Amino acid sequence: MVKKTVKKAAKTAAKKAVKKAVKYVYSFGAGKAEGNGKMKELLGGKGANLAEMAGQLKLPVPPGFTITTEVCTYYWNNKRTYPKTLKADVEANLKKIERETKKQFGSEKNPLLVSVRSGARASMPGMMETILNIGLTEKTIPGMIAKTGDARFVYDAYRRLIMMYSDVVMEKAAGIEPKDGEGIRKILDGMLEELKNKLGVSDDTHIPAEELQKLCVQFKATVKKVLKKDFPDDPMEQLWGAIGAVFASWNGKRAIAYRNIENIPHDWGTAVNVQTMVFGNMGDTSATGVAFTRNPGTGDSHFYGEYLINAQGEDVVAGIRTPSPMNKWSANAHSKHLPTLEKVMPKVYKELDAIQKKLEKHFHDMLDIEFTIEDQKLWMLQCRVGKRNGTAAVQMALDMVKERLISKEEAVLRVTPTQLGELLLPAIDPKAEAGVKPIAQGLPAGPGGAAGKIVFNSLDAIKLQEAGQNAILVREETNPEDIEGMRAAAGILTQRGGMTSHAALVARGWGKCCIVGCGELEINLNAKTVKMGGKTFKEGDELTLNGTKGYVYEGALKMLAAGEGNKNLAAFLALCDKVRTMKVRANADTEEDAIKARKFGAEGIGLFRIEHMFYGKNSDKPLFILRKMILSGSEEERKAAVEELFPYMKKEIKATMKAMAGFGVTVRLMDPPLHEFVPTLPEKQAELAKALGITMDVFKDRAASLHEVNPMMGHRGIRLGVTYPEITTMQSRAIFESAAELIKEGVKAQPEVMIPLTCDVNEIISQKKLIRAAYDEVVAKTKVKKLNFSVGTMIEIPRAAVLAYEVAQETDFFSFGTNDLTQMTFGFSRDDIGSFLPEYLKQGILEADPFQTLDQRGVGMLIEHAVAEGRDAKPNLKVGICGEHGGDPESVEFCHREGFTYVSCSAFRVPIARLAAAQAAAKDVLAKKRK
Ligand code: PEP
Ligand code: MG
Repeated sequence: MVKKTVKKAAKTAAKKAVKKAVKYVYSFGAGKAEGNGKMKELLGGKGANLAEMAGQLKLPVPPGFTITTEVCTYYWNNKRTYPKTLKADVEANLKKIERETKKQFGSEKNPLLVSVRSGARASMPGMMETILNIGLTEKTIPGMIAKTGDARFVYDAYRRLIMMYSDVVMEKAAGIEPKDGEGIRKILDGMLEELKNKLGVSDDTHIPAEELQKLCVQFKATVKKVLKKDFPDDPMEQLWGAIGAVFASWNGKRAIAYRNIENIPHDWGTAVNVQTMVFGNMGDTSATGVAFTRNPGTGDSHFYGEYLINAQGEDVVAGIRTPSPMNKWSANAHSKHLPTLEKVMPKVYKELDAIQKKLEKHFHDMLDIEFTIEDQKLWMLQCRVGKRNGTAAVQMALDMVKERLISKEEAVLRVTPTQLGELLLPAIDPKAEAGVKPIAQGLPAGPGGAAGKIVFNSLDAIKLQEAGQNAILVREETNPEDIEGMRAAAGILTQRGGMTSHAALVARGWGKCCIVGCGELEINLNAKTVKMGGKTFKEGDELTLNGTKGYVYEGALKMLAAGEGNKNLAAFLALCDKVRTMKVRANADTEEDAIKARKFGAEGIGLFRIEHMFYGKNSDKPLFILRKMILSGSEEERKAAVEELFPYMKKEIKATMKAMAGFGVTVRLMDPPLHEFVPTLPEKQAELAKALGITMDVFKDRAASLHEVNPMMGHRGIRLGVTYPEITTMQSRAIFESAAELIKEGVKAQPEVMIPLTCDVNEIISQKKLIRAAYDEVVAKTKVKKLNFSVGTMIEIPRAAVLAYEVAQETDFFSFGTNDLTQMTFGFSRDDIGSFLPEYLKQGILEADPFQTLDQRGVGMLIEHAVAEGRDAKPNLKVGICGEHGGDPESVEFCHREGFTYVSCSAFRVPIARLAAAQAAAKDVLAKKRK
């Protein structure tokens, strides 16, 4: 009984399946379409939008059909064959076009010609193939000439078909890989050029019909000779050849490489669009063009584009003739003398202008349009969301909100963090960069561009800066003694180090261009030379760095001015602030950085690294005292040094808190890797030994005793406060006295004390006693009222994350130190990944450098656990992040999802974080609206 029922059900299902055979072809045109704009996965971007333009918007789209991406998948999964039903489907759809156009494919009297174009889900400009004029054969040519009365036009179309088809179908899709410059297209191009020279004409349109006819004969003979095959003279053979070539081109080298760069999945497949040909090359009443509904370079809201009279689409892109401007807003230095379409064909221009307005209203975005005018009749061939640069993206987003075309949530999603970054950094002029090859490559540690003269030490970098010149500081690696030189240099290039190495961290904090881990550098400090790319460079030679990509170039390339003056930046960021729910703070260690951070919109400091006061400007004296403290021989000596340090520390903290008035300042207790502070220069060592009253031998013994096998896991962070409580007490006093004095001066100071590198709640309990005692002492001494403070900890050791429930009971906030948390979760040293991480990435063992992009699966799981447990213990626990990931957009989105109170990042990244936080919130709002 059961068996029978199952059988019956199976039969019905099979019947249904037969009835509902998979639909592989979707037609469009003449005010109707089987698909629509939402069907990008199936029809590709181009096919979906053609359907939308034809079916929904009733725009003049030449009739055609789209073969779905599923056929591409089938083709590659089934040894380059098609589904059984495809042939009949294509033929039926071709018939449909024939009915609509009243032309027949292959007809001798009234032939229909079609184009075949690829169209994946995401646009892959220039990566895949297009073939025009399919259907022209010995038989159909006379019919076309009779119909159009224009032999020149027909032979021009035919020579284009031979060129495209032999190149795309007969050579590339057949897997023939000619040497560079010896491909069939190049050969045929050469013949065309030769003919033009012979005839003394510069423009293709001036070649007479009979010459073109002869050229077509020669073309076909050459194709036969080179590719050992006849050029097909059967329209159906041409059509299927072209369709197959588009599918084949999905896995062509160019397309694969492009997908790898753009992160487009390889299994998406492309659709194929077959469409009635319309001709822009039918004389002076015809034209073809590419336009944007707004200027993609500036964001200016006027219709913008170029066109060519008497030409086919490829001519505009190929740059053979200088295209003319659409209107006065589109004219440039090369085209301003040429007549605009608005003047030449006012009626068509008006129609096109109305269409572009309609398209923007419909798609709510700037669109990139391709069109053809055939004898004064306008046809729309494509529309897609247009690519744009950072300046334009920001301008458009703001304008479209004003125009009520999009919501503020949509607007913040219209600008990528990379585009916003373009507005913030000095950069190499892309035109200058396009023409040259890099001579070396390292890790892109600090984005932007820098050009300048090579120097090999900090002093020389400072000297150059003082002389008003740009320096590129080339070092094996950098250490705290290089700081001033790093600040003075326009760019930094190091041989060793990873993305969170000292140089990288500092450079990013300053928004300075920096490349680290450029392993191939051979530096000779004695000769003051560096070898790379097979060449030796001397001090004073010029280099250009692209810190965004990690490329080093010879010579000084042209730079674009930093986008600081962009008039829209502030307005756009204000819009982001309206949308975001998470706060954005800065990692800042000086008054100067705090002021900068406020300018960039930081709402407080999430990490003030006290030990950074021992680097850089005016650090000589405090650094000297710190060194005395580190190298002291007794408790007494150390306590004296600690007291000596107090006024310096207080001064720095107070100035920074003042600059951040009204906002919280998280001061982290010292976390110095002690060995980094032992001087390496002999004269500095001697000076210190003298101050300590010890011999050089004793000095060396003490320095050696500080040596640790694994300093990153050694005597640092809270461990220093546990072994030397006076250090915690002094810092706490410095924090509270600064705050108390500011409050008395009427400045709103909000100190937050942060304990680093915690692994157990008992460490916090021990330090909190010291902090509280210092607070009580300061309040008693200063009699200040309303001095509030909070105590929190960094979560940067996995054990603290695991035991977050206990830790939260003793803290007011958690700040995830994801640099150390990543280091300790992976067991990867943050300073030594250069020797193995590139191989991990190359082999695909890891997808990304976890020090750059937060490892959401592993480290993220610890964070998720810690937030949940922490808030369980203390529902109002403040949660933030202050590791380098705090400025990484993907990581910011993760923090938003996990309910963080704030992210904190270097001052220069604050705008990016404001955008990323807004985008995360906007996605929430839009997803809710969709439900
Ligand atoms: C961290 O570990 O993420 C952090 C912010 O601290 P530091 O980089 O100073 O170790
Ligand atoms: Mg840390």
